[in-house]
Amino acid sequence: MDIQRQVSLAERNTLGLDQKAAYLVEVNSVGQVNDAIEYARDHGLALQVLGAGSNVVLCSDLSSLVIHPRFRGIERADDLLRIGAGEVWHDVVLASLELGCHGIENLALIPGLAGAAPIQNIGAYGQEIANVLDHLEAINLVTGTVERFTARDCEFGYRDSVFKHAARGRFLITHIALQLTEAFNPILNYVDLQEAFARGTPTARELVDTVIRIRQRKLPDPAAIGNVGSFFKNPVMTADEALQVQGRDADAPLRNMPDGQVKIPAAWLIERCGLKGHSHGGAAVSDQHALVIINRGRASASDVLALKDKIQSTVLDRFGIRLQVEPELLGG
Ligand code: NAP
Repeated sequence: MDIQRQVSLAERNTLGLDQKAAYLVEVNSVGQVNDAIEYARDHGLALQVLGAGSNVVLCSDLSSLVIHPRFRGIERADDLLRIGAGEVWHDVVLASLELGCHGIENLALIPGLAGAAPIQNIGAYGQEIANVLDHLEAINLVTGTVERFTARDCEFGYRDSVFKHAARGRFLITHIALQLTEAFNPILNYVDLQEAFARGTPTARELVDTVIRIRQRKLPDPAAIGNVGSFFKNPVMTADEALQVQGRDADAPLRNMPDGQVKIPAAWLIERCGLKGHSHGGAAVSDQHALVIINRGRASASDVLALKDKIQSTVLDRFGIRLQVEPELLGG
């Protein structure tokens, strides 16, 4: 097992924050994970899983043993697509097209690795992984045993799962298994997609290409400018709370959900507070999309956190809504 020490994580998080891991190991087998667990136990280290670093804010150096999953493979097994946690999610979407399995086209170009997808229940344009996940396999980082989670076990919510709550930090996901369909039933209820396909139903490839185009147009590319995608969740509230928001701003774009709750775009709240483009040190609210915090170069974690605090307090004062951070804050 190749354990590296004092490793820079600057290239291992898409926000590009220059923090270090005291120890880091890459793993691609259950045996290697067990070796890492033993090493951490022998050396009194905490364990921390870091995938593509596309949904984390590294608030400080990490004193733990960081494990990077490299489990590979995208295979059809019976009627499921079984995917190694170390595969790049977008490659999975492209592979599903090649294999003639459908259901994840709307999730094209979401950054990150496949293993991270269930943790925050990635979603876009009316589809989320909760709708297609059959089960996942994960190693319990305390016992070293492999456990299987059905979709129900994952306790999925809006950009949420059990891996952000009771199971937080306790498992390393090795594989996910998706139940996709041979028939292509496009999900086109979001306005961007309706506009794109007003003249007729797309093929799966056309849908993927269009989602890629829309995302490239709207969101800064993390490979070019550091960011972690949406920095805040879109707030969901009760109908009474929504009335109060409307009282404060009659233009609020409220959207009724099937369960009676009401959703409002966080990007709209931030923009309405005049914070689009606002910066603190090297961190700024993207001019392209108000929900994205970018690293303009040399941003420190404290720049990012100060900007986050400013956004949260301004939105709270103006609308009475406390925005929740979507990425995980590590080492804070
Ligand atoms: P958008 O399409 O302009 O939508 C803005 C807001 O309106 C979001 O709250 C979205 O909800 C909601 N919305 C739009 N059409 C809807 C419909 N037909 N039914 C219900 N709700 C609707 O947002 P955007 O920022 O450009 O993002 C596009 C999509 O990518 C969104 O689905 C967004 O959630 C997703 N996205 C996901 C991630 C992530 O998983 N980390 C990151 C970036 C963007 P929803 O947010 O519930 O869709």
